[in-house]
Amino acid sequence: MQPLSLKQRILTLAHSTGLAGLARRATASQLRILCYHGLWVTPGFEFGNCTFIAPEQFEARMARLKRSGLPVLALGEAIDRLAAGTLPEAAVAITIDDGWVSTLTHMLPVLEHYRLPATLYATTWYAGRALPVVNVAVDYLCAAAGRPDLDSGAATARIEALPSGQRLAALRRLGAELGVDEAWLELRQFNIMSAAELAEAQRRGLDVQLHTHRHIDIEREVLALPREIEQNRAFLQAAIGDKEFTHFCHPSGSNHPRARVLLAASGVRSATLVETGLNAPGSDPLALRRFLDGRFVTHAEFDAYLSGILHCLAPLRALLAGPGVRGNRGVSIGRYEAGHVSGPEISRSGGPGRAALPHLARAGTLS
Ligand SMILES: [Zn+2]
Repeated sequence: MQPLSLKQRILTLAHSTGLAGLARRATASQLRILCYHGLWVTPGFEFGNCTFIAPEQFEARMARLKRSGLPVLALGEAIDRLAAGTLPEAAVAITIDDGWVSTLTHMLPVLEHYRLPATLYATTWYAGRALPVVNVAVDYLCAAAGRPDLDSGAATARIEALPSGQRLAALRRLGAELGVDEAWLELRQFNIMSAAELAEAQRRGLDVQLHTHRHIDIEREVLALPREIEQNRAFLQAAIGDKEFTHFCHPSGSNHPRARVLLAASGVRSATLVETGLNAPGSDPLALRRFLDGRFVTHAEFDAYLSGILHCLAPLRALLAGPGVRGNRGVSIGRYEAGHVSGPEISRSGGPGRAALPHLARAGTLS
């Protein structure tokens, strides 16, 4: 058994001394928002940190959340009640980004079992194509082949330069060259839900909402935001039918000073980031903080976010995030980028508090 890190010892001590109860009372008026992506369903090599976690881990988290007795609200209701000051104590909302197929096949049954509401922020360019997300698949193939020396960005750019109808064959060729079997392809590990699957998810209780059509990097392409939201909303309306698409999630947490005005003008009434934190009454609904769950996030850290201990211990953040601690920051398994970035991952960081979330592909060259 591995020795506990300083962070784990502090969090365990905080729980055993009753600090959790105190923290919960001190932060009772603040909204907790959990952030997930997809689940890892491919046998063998495990890939992803925050983007894909094990189905068993997600099930265990939802069981813990249910056992905690904290009120879990639909996001829309939580936003309204946060603004009105009528939020129940220590309320929680669950959000899931992107719309990976595993969200429908493996996450939704768990949410249904525990009767937990959740919002799905769906990106839709890939939803209209039976094509795995190219840059994520390429990163996986290089990692699974044990070839970190390969330039996955260049390979991604080469495949994304092809007409979309030729990209799947190119991905399969790359996999064959690297000797990686196609379980990932058969299990649709890197596919985004189709329009029919999004409609099914909505019908079964997921609240499907906005995440841009092409999963753009807002920091770089802020002026594309209105059109991206319009296309994203139009796709979802065609797939799902009439409902309000007014909740938004910043792709990969990227942001820009002009984004807020553009979001409001596009009829967006709440937007979530990837910055860790709670949301106090009166918080800006277009800059909501979340807790990014991930493969290396322990149950103690998860509990500490829900109880408010993480928030109360924030002044100790530098200590808690010291070397050797594997939290949800700084554990990037690679650069999920479509080859448009000139600098290293760290240069795109939004500053302290923003998680090192890998970047899902923008759609690349459209055809
Ligand atoms: Zn995303």
